[in-house]
Amino acid sequence: AKRTGRNRVFSYEEGMLEKVAARHQLETDLKTALENHEFRLVYQPIRDLRSERTVGFEALIRWHHPTRGLVSPADFIPLAEELGCIVAIGGWVLAEACREAATWQDGMYVAVNVSAVQFRTPLLFAHVTQALAESGLPAHRLEVELTETAIVSHGTHVAQTLEALRALGIKVAMDDFGTGYSSLAHLRDLPLDRIKIDRSFVATAATDNSSMAVLRAVTQLGRDIGIATLGEGVETVEQMRLLKSLGCDAAQGYLIGKPGAVEPASSDLSADGAF
Ligand code: C2E
Ligand code: CA
Ligand code: CA
Ligand code: CA
Repeated sequence: AKRTGRNRVFSYEEGMLEKVAARHQLETDLKTALENHEFRLVYQPIRDLRSERTVGFEALIRWHHPTRGLVSPADFIPLAEELGCIVAIGGWVLAEACREAATWQDGMYVAVNVSAVQFRTPLLFAHVTQALAESGLPAHRLEVELTETAIVSHGTHVAQTLEALRALGIKVAMDDFGTGYSSLAHLRDLPLDRIKIDRSFVATAATDNSSMAVLRAVTQLGRDIGIATLGEGVETVEQMRLLKSLGCDAAQGYLIGKPGAVEPASSDLSADGAF
């Protein structure tokens, strides 16, 4: 370390200070972003692979920062979780997504991402109930997405918590399957409506035997135990065909539609039969 000299050490520390200051500023901004109406939701279509129709949309949050422009959720969601403000932000997401979905044509559902921190607070139930009541959206048209890690790290009462959510009439999906530590056997014990297979498996299935094996096993298990499966991050026609041939129920990805606005009169925009 000595050989790096005084200047190197100094510039390293300077970089650190800048980072700390930038992070502190982002924290301060994040705490007021909700009341300043800086968040928006965009919606990505979910396609049923049998009917080839759009059956729902996933709500994805966007932060329009007054000076930085668009900040990615990958950059601020972890911070919001640390600060605890994810609970309030998540409550807003639920309310906004339900309000929007209530204007869509019949049957379309909205999928909302729920953070592990939100999942651990009893407030989640109040937020879901309130969002449904205020929007008038039928409960079965709301699906909450919990990451595999959130579900697995929740402890011994996971199944009860998931059941309690489903008792509200909403659907529960496991997000990013394959990125955490749950096994196929574990899936069998959990009360889930849908498994979303992480896009890394979809992306590498054609070249990686173990990814293909996971896709095959999860879609097979889903069929056997009656849990719907969805492949994430579909970018090519080949990936779409593969999922379909494996009997995967639904797909989502840039090929089908990028996250954006849902037009009020035609929320079935992307059901163009191109596949
Ligand atoms: P996620 O829930 O796995 O959402 C899918 C992400 O993949 C989205 O990124 C989406 O834009 C992107 N994506 C969709 N199709 C494709 C594709 O074909 N190729 C590629 N390369 N990417 C695709 P986004 O919107 O940046 O969100 C990132 C993550 O941030 C989400 O991952 C989710 O974990 C989190 N997030 C987003 N909105 C919310 C929210 O309202 N609440 C919470 N708690 N987390 C959220
Ligand atoms: Ca998701
Ligand atoms: Ca995902
Ligand atoms: Ca993800």
